[in-house]
This record gives sequence, C-alpha cells and structure tokens, in this order.
Amino acid sequence: MKKLVKLAVPVTLASAMLFSSSIAADPQTTPNGPYIENEQNISLSNYMSNEELYEKLKHFEEKSNGKMKLEIAGYSNLAPDGYSTDDEKGEPLYVVKFGDNDPDKKKIMITTQIHGNEQIGTEAAVDIIQKLSSNGKEVNEILENVSIWIMPRINPEGADNQYEDSWYPTRYTHQTWNPEELGLPADTPSPWYYNEDGSERAQNNNGRIVYGIPGYDQNRDYNPNFDLAIEDLQKSEVADFLNSDTLNDSDYGGLYVTAESRTVTSVFEEFQPDVYVDVHHRGFNKLSDEDNRSVPVQLAAVVATQEYEDPFTGKTYDVDDDVLKLGKQVNALSYLALQKGNSHYGAIQKYPDVNLPGTALGAFALNDAAIMLIEIKGQSQTLGQKQNGMLTQTVTQPLFEVFEGLADGSIHNVDPQIYDDIPKSANRISDPTTREDKAF
Ligand SMILES: [Zn+2]
Repeated sequence: MKKLVKLAVPVTLASAMLFSSSIAADPQTTPNGPYIENEQNISLSNYMSNEELYEKLKHFEEKSNGKMKLEIAGYSNLAPDGYSTDDEKGEPLYVVKFGDNDPDKKKIMITTQIHGNEQIGTEAAVDIIQKLSSNGKEVNEILENVSIWIMPRINPEGADNQYEDSWYPTRYTHQTWNPEELGLPADTPSPWYYNEDGSERAQNNNGRIVYGIPGYDQNRDYNPNFDLAIEDLQKSEVADFLNSDTLNDSDYGGLYVTAESRTVTSVFEEFQPDVYVDVHHRGFNKLSDEDNRSVPVQLAAVVATQEYEDPFTGKTYDVDDDVLKLGKQVNALSYLALQKGNSHYGAIQKYPDVNLPGTALGAFALNDAAIMLIEIKGQSQTLGQKQNGMLTQTVTQPLFEVFEGLADGSIHNVDPQIYDDIPKSANRISDPTTREDKAF
C-alpha cells in the first residue's frame, strides 16, 4: 500500500468521488453551495493510509499500560470466495478493546468507514482511542463501568483503493461474484448490492468513473440471521433467492458474501454490546427555512422499522421496545451534547426512519443492540479538510457523553421524546451535478 504524503487530489478526480447520500428527496440546488467548485484543489494530506492507521493503533496499545488490547479480528479478502478468509488474506480488520465482554459492564461497540470513502469517522475513532488509552481520571471512571470496542475502518480495501496511481477511496469492497465457486449456475445473478464493473458516480466524466475492481456495498451484506452463510444454504434456495426480484432486494438481509461483514458480525456476537454506533457521511442540509446553519451531522436510532422474517429459516427478528428506548436515549444525549448556544454544532437533524435489515445497524438492532447512526455532512473529498476538526468533534464529543451516561447510568434518565423532537431531515442542498441518491 502506498503511503499518502501531501497528496493533493485535483478537482476533476476529487469531485468524481463525491456522493450525496440522503434518501430524503428534497432537492434544492444552491449555486454557491458547499460543493467544491471547478478548479479548486483540495488537500487530503492528513488522511491516513491503512499502514498509517495500523501504526497509530499499535503505538496507542504500547502506551496504554495494558488498558487497550489490539487484536486482528479477521481480514478483508480479495479472492472470489471471499467468505473464506484463510486462503487469501487482504488487509487486517482490527478490533480495539477497552475492557472485556463482562455482562456486568455496559458495552458499546463502534465501527467506522464501512464505506471506504467516508473517512472522518475513522479520524474520530482514532481520537477516541488515543484519549481512552491515556491515563485520565475521566477515562478511568468510564472504563471501570463500560467496555468499549472499536473497529476503525472496516472497509480497508475501499479506503485505500488506487485509481490511475492516485488514492481513490471508494464505497465498495474488493471482491468478485463467482457463482460457480458456490456450486451455482454460472448465470446466477449476483446479490443486488454488487458493483460489477467497479464504478463510482462522478461529477464529471458523464457522471461515472470506472476504476475497474468489482466489489460489494458491505453495508447491505449483513443479515439479522447471523448463522446465515451462503455456502451452507441449499444451492437451489440460494439460486431462487437471487433470481427473485422481490427477495434479492433491500427489503431483505444480505447473504454475508464478504469477509468484512462476517468479521464485524463475529465481533458483535462475541461482545454482545448494549449499544452499537456506525459512523457514515452524507450530503448537505441547512437546518430549516428560518435557520441557515449547515447541518454537521444527522443522527438516527431507527434503521429497522418492521419485523424481519428470514426467508430461509422462517425465523423472525424484532426490535425490542427497551432496545429502541435506549437507542433513542443514546441519540438524544448525543443531540444534547452538541447544543452550545447558537453554534453550528447544534444544527442537528434526525435521519429519516428506514427499514434496512441488510445494514450492520439494521441487523444488529434486530439482535438487541440499541443503535446510533451518525451521518457526517459531505464526503471528505467535497469538503476537503477545512472543517475536519469541527466535524471530528461532532462525533467524539457526543460519544464521550454517551460513555459517561452509560458509566453512571444517567443515560436511562434521558427523555426519549427529545429524540423524537429532533428536527427532521429537510432542506437538502443538492449536488448540482450528481443527481442520484443513496441511503447510508
Ligand atoms: Zn456510508
């Protein structure tokens, strides 16, 4: 992997990496909006390569006096049979552990960069890990009562993707759909979330760049049925599922074809966290018609709105009322943590309720984890780094409040109605050239 030193991405390429990712179609084109204008260069020199990230994690572990444990939970996989990670290992997927899975402690799990082109969550994770591994009274009080496991950058292939000798992070993993490896007919359709030609939407180049490496949207590959493994299912059942337009769709869970989703799920199963947080990026909004503040983050506690029935086993999964309540409390406390007078930190919106059982958040919510989706505004490439410090803090600050709320139990006193009253996603500022929308 290449080290990224002083890499300036020219705007043609930079804007090619842009995503708007709201499902709330509320188009509002603003000519002088937040999107990078032509001829602007943005510096991405501070972003970490995979190697740089791993170096930092090892350094924090060494300095932590045993408080932090760094483990490799699994590997990304480049082989066509990516569900088997032993033969052809890609990049390591690290889990940073503060505390064990003691059921007497409160437990929170955080993942970032499930989409490789969504970097700031990982910047925030590194800041959190650094602080937790240091020796402070506040930190020690938290860790006496709360175990915190963090998986920064769970899509290392997409994060460090190269195109035409430059760093070109992408949403997708690297992996090829090969039905014959699974004993399926060669013409069996791929899971719907497969990106066959390795392409990204782009601002220029007729709206599309082909970087040429196929892969999956990892955040549709999860399933509420953790035991599901595509290679263990009846071949005819898998073929029927994939050939069906109604089943091979976002209303159903994914098939766990990626090594990455399997690895993250195995960590979730080992830890059984009370709270699960996943950090993403999205588009731009202003708070309201009256309030022009730019929305730094949207939050959500609801990513599974319906009972899920696994089509293979008939088993059903539901979000528990207590779990939903705790999720709303976690989101509400995060919202409150960012209210500071009339500053831009407080211009928070609520991401729309969605039903996506194939996302990590959806699948984990259906398995008893209270959840928080954090959606940071913009893509790193659309903002450059001019607001990185502020945006990183909109993730770290709420999470430390949540750690403290879990540690002293005060999270349970937060009124869940505060979550319901967070302003809804609205007043979206459309990217003037990229029209397509995609949920997180
Ligand atoms: Zn995302």
